[in-house]
Amino acid sequence: MTFPALLEDVVDRSGTGRPVPDPATGRVFAVAPDHGPDAVAPAVAAARRAQEGWAAATSDERAATLHAAADAVERRADELAAILALEQGKPLDGPNARFEVAASVDWVRATADLPEPDGTRDVPGDLATVAHRPVGVVAAITPWNWPMMIATWQIAPALRMGNAVIAKPSEYTTLSGLALCAVMNEALPPGVLHAVVGDGAVGARLVADPGVGKVMFTGSTATGRRIVEASAANLARLTLELGGNDPAIVLPDADPRAIAADLFWGAFTNSGQTCAAVKRVYAHDAVHDDLVEALAELARTTPMGPASDPSSLLGPLQNRRQWEIVDRLVESAKSGGARVAAGGNPDRTAPGNFYPATIVSDLGDDAPLVHEEQFGPALPVVRFHDIEEAVASANAFETGLGASVWSGDPERARSVAARIDAGTVWINAHGGLHPAVPFGGVKQSGYGTEFGVDGLRAVSVAQVIRC
Ligand code: NAD
Repeated sequence: MTFPALLEDVVDRSGTGRPVPDPATGRVFAVAPDHGPDAVAPAVAAARRAQEGWAAATSDERAATLHAAADAVERRADELAAILALEQGKPLDGPNARFEVAASVDWVRATADLPEPDGTRDVPGDLATVAHRPVGVVAAITPWNWPMMIATWQIAPALRMGNAVIAKPSEYTTLSGLALCAVMNEALPPGVLHAVVGDGAVGARLVADPGVGKVMFTGSTATGRRIVEASAANLARLTLELGGNDPAIVLPDADPRAIAADLFWGAFTNSGQTCAAVKRVYAHDAVHDDLVEALAELARTTPMGPASDPSSLLGPLQNRRQWEIVDRLVESAKSGGARVAAGGNPDRTAPGNFYPATIVSDLGDDAPLVHEEQFGPALPVVRFHDIEEAVASANAFETGLGASVWSGDPERARSVAARIDAGTVWINAHGGLHPAVPFGGVKQSGYGTEFGVDGLRAVSVAQVIRC
């Protein structure tokens, strides 16, 4: 793949920063900057200064500026997608790099067009006017799986409401985060969007900075817990989008052949490195065997390869650490007697982080592949006999991000969906998100709401005037 000109703007020319390996080959192709924790305080101070002018702009002006930022991202979409493919490893086509950049553009535009959350309430004796004012500086701390799209989920609403933003991309996808911010900054007023890059120590410093009023965090539950503790210092408001272990329940009246492709992509999009992806399937006896066979067929035939190969639809895992987690979980399922219907046989000597799409059956909730978040291309299918058992299993763990119910009868599916502890339950689908529809987890998948008008409220503070 040719290196886009934009890459030159975001690499560390001194060569002393963080080496960036191509996930498909392991070969280092660039060096990414690492600003280190000491860069945080000056960035927050600069953001605070810029925020005053930005907050004084009208809502319409801010919306127009966000549209201009979306136009800039769209203009440079090919370069951004190439950087994403090089660094994250996802192929260009299919639901991958180009899709992620296009979705980021749509997200920024849709957020710019959201109605203001302000309003009035009639109360006996007076009228209460509720205005939503900016929090000030918002920290946007993101993971490596969808590094551009998740960053826009945090940056766009925060800017829309008049805040300045300090983005802290994952150290695994520094270049993608920096490139997105650089392009958005072509259209934004100076200083309202900063990117400070480095590892968790940079994030930790940011969370505790007295100038930060709100932390938007997407990442693991373990890091979320550390952020809660660190925010005790400044009482920064928090939105936490954390890990998930989404169940999909397939009822006896579902047609296993007809649903297999949607269920497969609900699990394997981005090679399974998606927070709200199907991570465990509960299939009724009546459909179990046909479903396992149909999923295994898709796992065997969906092309996996480097981002540089236009026929690839599945890419490597982004980093070796995640590859090792997936491998450990599949190996432990095998040694527990589970059946591997497809995959499960990675080439351990090959360069890069490829793990074949893997379908595992004949295992229960006690298998680590079922109760831990694999965050990779390995899907366990657990058999159930009665629906009570499946609902109990779906709700058995400490996460509750997404879930899905698959059935020929949507009303029946809806009644099962209402009993599942998850922020979003899809019916006959899994993973679709929309910028106007609230998104968030329950239990240890986090708290707070992103997207839509609820998401705008989450990056602002309500001031009430009664007269
Ligand atoms: P991670 O928690 O390791 O890292 C996320 C970000 O937090 C990175 O930028 C990292 O540098 C930073 N960080 C690390 N320690 C920190 C600290 N002490 N203080 C502040 N920041 C710190 O997560 P990851 O491995 O990058 O991402 C994978 C996880 O993210 C999975 O569990 C996945 O389910 C979850 N995720 C959730 C959602 C969602 O919307 N709920 C979306 C995507 C990913």
